[in-house]
Amino acid sequence: MSESASCIFCKIVRGEIPAVKVHEDAQTLTFMDVRPASPGHTLVISKAHAPNLLEIAEVDLLAVASTVQRVARAVQKALSPDGIRIGQFNGTAAGQTVLHYHVHIVPMREGQKAGAHGREPANPEQLKVLAAQVRAALEA
Ligand code: AMP
Ligand code: ZN
Repeated sequence: MSESASCIFCKIVRGEIPAVKVHEDAQTLTFMDVRPASPGHTLVISKAHAPNLLEIAEVDLLAVASTVQRVARAVQKALSPDGIRIGQFNGTAAGQTVLHYHVHIVPMREGQKAGAHGREPANPEQLKVLAAQVRAALEA
């Protein structure tokens, strides 16, 4: 089986499993993290499968970077956090759990102690509300 056939994020790209999507373009997909480190925690992935920063094609890397900036601006506009953490892990030893290149966008509040990953699954309805707010800011 190819890496992509069994990859959970490739399955989201192919529509084989659901995700609360925020935005999609030719090269990238943005959706809500199901175990958010904070409300509004969003993931930007490359549609093309690559395990990590070391292996992704530059053209896909640049597309993700551009989407990350757009979505981070939209998160700022929609949710007014005090700061935004951008995170990205390479290899299980570094904390990567899904071996498909992705970037975390985590809204932060002053004094908030949030790890890289959330522990509890989010309420799906709350995720949809947050995704709609970020999408509206992206489209404004
Ligand atoms: P990491 O590989 O450690 O950078 O993080 C992977 C992230 O993907 C974690 O924060 C998970 O909560 C998140 N995640 C895993 N599966 C899904 C999914 N099906 N939909 C949305 N987020 C997911
Ligand atoms: Zn993949």
